[in-house]
Amino acid sequence: MPDFLAFNTPIQDAQIVFLGIPFDGTSVFRSGSRFAPEAIRSVSEVLETYSPYQEKDLSEYRICDAGDLPLLFGNTEKVLSIIEEKADELLAKGKRIIACGGEHLITYPLVKSYLKKFPNLKLIHFDAHTDLRTHYLGEKYSHSTVIRLLAEYIDPKDIYQFGIRSGEKEEMDWGMKNTRFFPFTLEGFAEKISDIGQEIPIYVTIDLDVLDPSCFPGTGTPEPGGVTFIELLSALLELRNRNTVGADVVELAPDYDQSKISSITAAKVIREMALLMSQS
Ligand code: MN
Ligand code: MN
Repeated sequence: MPDFLAFNTPIQDAQIVFLGIPFDGTSVFRSGSRFAPEAIRSVSEVLETYSPYQEKDLSEYRICDAGDLPLLFGNTEKVLSIIEEKADELLAKGKRIIACGGEHLITYPLVKSYLKKFPNLKLIHFDAHTDLRTHYLGEKYSHSTVIRLLAEYIDPKDIYQFGIRSGEKEEMDWGMKNTRFFPFTLEGFAEKISDIGQEIPIYVTIDLDVLDPSCFPGTGTPEPGGVTFIELLSALLELRNRNTVGADVVELAPDYDQSKISSITAAKVIREMALLMSQS
């Protein structure tokens, strides 16, 4: 499998590490997000290495595609500990991680690891869903519980949620009461994160189902009423000149993406995130 577009710096020299995490063990409706890293790499070559939005080129930065994390299926807790250990190892070496799911549960071990290194981390969460359930079908560890799980480790007031348009009443109410909860749109994004100082470390988790299914059909739980690609990108560009130390992009399910438009969109989000996180 070729590297993701121009992510070809050897790992020891890289500032940013792109890591595939092909896990979809708790998906219930439409699984298949474990095939996303492979799909994203294979379409990435249609993109340019240059971003006209940021006037930066990937070739000027030290980014490594570290391949996919080898994972065994059937034991979710073991998978979570493997992911956390890998993140610990990369963070100890001073790397910044862009993880590619897989399902959204992968964010739990990643952010847990980040919080050990960056106790004052802020979490910015884009999603159609709150992911604030306490359990899902009896399971504590699920893509539907990931943000609620993290709220045991990070002050919910340090969690900024955007684009949410689906959830049970209980989880929506909990979000409105406890997190920085900004449903439906990304309007006013810059102002809503304006209390985060320039030096404060930020982790960005992008559940791609925040995008409207008309522009992003390839996902396990499509939810009509979402934002456009340019609205998401405009919000991300507000993170320029901030200290984004980690990110993940999750929930692409390539089997539902016959045109490959969703995979290309995911690849473009990853290119822009990599440039946002790169320091010269
Ligand atoms: Mn979602
Ligand atoms: Mn999610």
